[in-house]
Amino acid sequence: MSKLAILGGSPVRKEDFPNRKSMGKEEIEAAKRVLDSDVLSGFVGAAGNFFNGGKEVKQFEKQWAEAYGFKHAISVNSWTTGLQVAVGAVGIEPGDEVICSPYTMSASATSVLFYGGIPVFADVERDRYTLDPKSIEERITPRTKAILVVHLFGYPANMDAIMAIAKKHNLKVIEDAAQAPGVYYKNIPVGAIGDIGGFSLNFHKHIHTGEGGVLVTHDDMIALRSQLIRNHGENATEAYGVTDISNTIGSNYRFTEIQAAIGYEQFKKLHGFLEHRKEIGAYLTNRLKAIEGLHVQQIEEGSTHSYYMYPIRFDENVFEVSRNLFLRAVSAELPKPNYWDTTPLAEGYVKPLYLNPVYQQKIAIGKKGFPFNTNPGVEYDYSKGLCPVTESLYEKELMLSPLVREGISKKEIADFADAIEKVVENISDLRNSALNKETNTQLYDATKAIDENVK
Ligand SMILES: *Cc1c(COP(=O)(O)O)cnc(C)c1O
Repeated sequence: MSKLAILGGSPVRKEDFPNRKSMGKEEIEAAKRVLDSDVLSGFVGAAGNFFNGGKEVKQFEKQWAEAYGFKHAISVNSWTTGLQVAVGAVGIEPGDEVICSPYTMSASATSVLFYGGIPVFADVERDRYTLDPKSIEERITPRTKAILVVHLFGYPANMDAIMAIAKKHNLKVIEDAAQAPGVYYKNIPVGAIGDIGGFSLNFHKHIHTGEGGVLVTHDDMIALRSQLIRNHGENATEAYGVTDISNTIGSNYRFTEIQAAIGYEQFKKLHGFLEHRKEIGAYLTNRLKAIEGLHVQQIEEGSTHSYYMYPIRFDENVFEVSRNLFLRAVSAELPKPNYWDTTPLAEGYVKPLYLNPVYQQKIAIGKKGFPFNTNPGVEYDYSKGLCPVTESLYEKELMLSPLVREGISKKEIADFADAIEKVVENISDLRNSALNKETNTQLYDATKAIDENVK
């Protein structure tokens, strides 16, 4: 048995993990073609041929819609604005409650606030990390209008149960599939299983255009309302014969021609990226699944995982060391991260959203408490303890690896698995070491580790 690197032994791997390289010559050619054309955006903020953008935007949207059989695909300048569009398009009004996950990127819930809706947080399933149907049912009131589900880390939420609840209570369903492009839930592509949903095209996502997003839906009216919100809808409702003009004041959430041209080339690569992630993700799962005290996700029949992050759940009762110490021991076996994507393991994901000041102080739009004070006599609960599974995942159970991605081969994933196995095999050395006596309550901050390494 070899000595753990954190206790002075030699590490499993010294060589850096390769960075991701996302842009190829196809994207460069596409961007150049648009620059040469001099038409960098094809949108006009009035009804007519260019209300829904230029040639590249239309081609990009068509490609996405056709590949997965979505009736409509609507590009936007970010997925954060895409979520706002979705909330507006399904008709959320001031005082409406929307059931949200607390374990996600902040925009999943703040999108609701932009239309005066109130995020009501339900807990997540421990094995799936996505909204727990039982907890959703407990949070439903006469004011509930929608459920905003997130397919976290690229694995679909429990949609059969969630759609059944939505049907029973007449609720809209919005899918935040930012981390799950091209993912299937029981053979159906995610994004438009509910009323509307979509994907992020920011720099960190599987495929990207720097910033950007795509909405998808099978509903013609929701699609039209989304297009109105994207592009100054107030100028166009009459021309399009829209009689319910609520929530159709538009903004400028338009995708540019360069972004669309790059996105068109990126999209062609998506399938290959997902296949690669599937292969190395399955390899890692096979290596880790028998380890007592670690839990890795199993993929249900007909569903897929995009491994935006590879989640590993840690049981401190089995190892008798903290997650933080375990993670530091694994990290010591591997090269130091020089970039987020080269971080072998991180912990916690994000703080449960309701613990952020916006919910703690109930101050969002203006200073008077809107929209949290919209329903007289109703007090919204955002206290610690609200979602115990989420809090436990954040505080001590969940570890994440961004290594299941393009540019990482099976050899590198094998080194990662070797590092974890080495720490598990030598766990008693770690347990008995002086390090285990430290009370370290600080989460391992990958960003800080990268900063220190780079300077
Ligand atoms: C990335 C992400 C968003 C926001 O997307 P942007 O394109 O960065 O605005 C929203 N929700 C989830 C779950 C995400 O991962």
